[in-house]
Amino acid sequence: TEFAALDAQIEAAELAEEAALAQPVLAVVGRPNVGKSTLVNRILGRREAVVQDVPGVTRDRVAYDAYWGGRKFTLVDTGGWEPDATGLQASVAAQAELAMQTADAVLLVIDATVGATATDEAVSKVLRRSKKPVLLAANKVDDDRLLADTASLWSLGLGEPHPVSALHGRSSGDLLDAILKALPESPREGGPVTSGPRRVALVGKPNVGKSSLLNKLSGEERSVVDSVAGTTVDPVDSLVELDGETWRFVDTAGLRKRVNFAAGAEYYASLRTKTAIDAAEVAIVLLDAAEPISEQDLRVLTMVVEAGRACVLAFNKWDLVDEDRRHAMVRELERGLVRVPWAEKVNISALTGRSVRKLAPALRTALASWDQRVPTGQLNAWLSDLIAATPPPVRSGKQPKVLFATQAGIRPPTLVLFTTGFLEAGYRRFIERKFRERFGFAGSPVRVNVRVRE
Ligand code: GDP
Ligand code: GDP
Repeated sequence: TEFAALDAQIEAAELAEEAALAQPVLAVVGRPNVGKSTLVNRILGRREAVVQDVPGVTRDRVAYDAYWGGRKFTLVDTGGWEPDATGLQASVAAQAELAMQTADAVLLVIDATVGATATDEAVSKVLRRSKKPVLLAANKVDDDRLLADTASLWSLGLGEPHPVSALHGRSSGDLLDAILKALPESPREGGPVTSGPRRVALVGKPNVGKSSLLNKLSGEERSVVDSVAGTTVDPVDSLVELDGETWRFVDTAGLRKRVNFAAGAEYYASLRTKTAIDAAEVAIVLLDAAEPISEQDLRVLTMVVEAGRACVLAFNKWDLVDEDRRHAMVRELERGLVRVPWAEKVNISALTGRSVRKLAPALRTALASWDQRVPTGQLNAWLSDLIAATPPPVRSGKQPKVLFATQAGIRPPTLVLFTTGFLEAGYRRFIERKFRERFGFAGSPVRVNVRVRE
């Protein structure tokens, strides 16, 4: 149990590290009716429509993708959060508290036509403790007459009040400039840089048919050297034309030469597999359809998943599969492929050429999923329904709250859930499964990370 606890801690730390790749988050807090939604809409430029509030009905979206000055950030409308606290003052303060812990910067919106209320003052008091930057927007300054009054909001102790009119757009650009200054830089997009032909790793245990397939695909007798002569391609790669498109099969030299290391053959084979997978965007994992799935097959699959590469499973030697074998396979696959139920699958024969033309469409599907991004607004509309129906399990007496999520990255698609507590692996898998049911992502791994700010 000590080890299990340590494992959980290490896992949490790793997930948090990956989750840090999410773009910066700005949370908008304030009393109801001060104009938070209107301001959020204004900042988004109606890129993602905010669902209008109906009194008594919770908003079904809370987070959105925002862009300004060439930078991206996630905009969170905390009005969509349902705090446990009762009473207006307590619940707005609770939202501010969560915003402080979760976001990289907080924007407090005040209704300048009303001035600072007792609730505004209470929330400001909470926010003054924040180590994160806090910005103050004095909203509904539709014309100059109110401008003088906004100066009184300095008394909240949150620095300079930014007068804006969310309704008319007045000075919202200045506010956005100040917001960008307060937010940390966005991280760079992860995943390998791609230009030129898409990169494919052809992997699988020895004798599964890798060389045969490569030969079949590239035309029987063309050698690697011929296919790359005079080009800038690494000599270890092969350019292969499939379905009218050129693909770069990485690290294929060893395949052609058929080197047999007397000792350590398996070690070298596994090293080659790893190198090829790392260099690729998508892996074709060859399995021998005539034989049960082996430990070696699973090791290769695990490498693909851990490297975060798109995946096509090709069941080779299909010419040897008879009726009995086909029946046996069904159960075998259910057990053997639990880690990759999402992989694209094709049944082929490298020997006869059967169905090898199905490989290119499968590769395209897998890569499209690998590159796919769900907009933050859409993601949260879906997520809030899911969480409401099936909340995370209670853990040591506490129920973690999932506040919002963003898809922090592609290649592979990576979700970051912003929560008030760690989510167990089982619940993250549940989210992944539902996410796939709703958004697809066939052929690509999907990561679900958690960012806990406690
Ligand atoms: P929220 O509850 O804080 O999200 O507030 P809403 O965005 O729903 O706005 C509440 C009301 O204030 C709506 O009727 C808006 O049209 C209005 N409102 C928002 N911003 C402005 C503004 O800049 N000027 C004026 N005059 N009204 C505004
Ligand atoms: P590698 O070690 O993965 O590169 O596998 P090879 O391409 O060298 O193939 C190993 C053996 O399997 C060879 O004897 C091939 O002829 C045979 N083989 C490859 N593909 C097929 C196939 O689709 N059907 C059948 N029946 N045999 C195949």
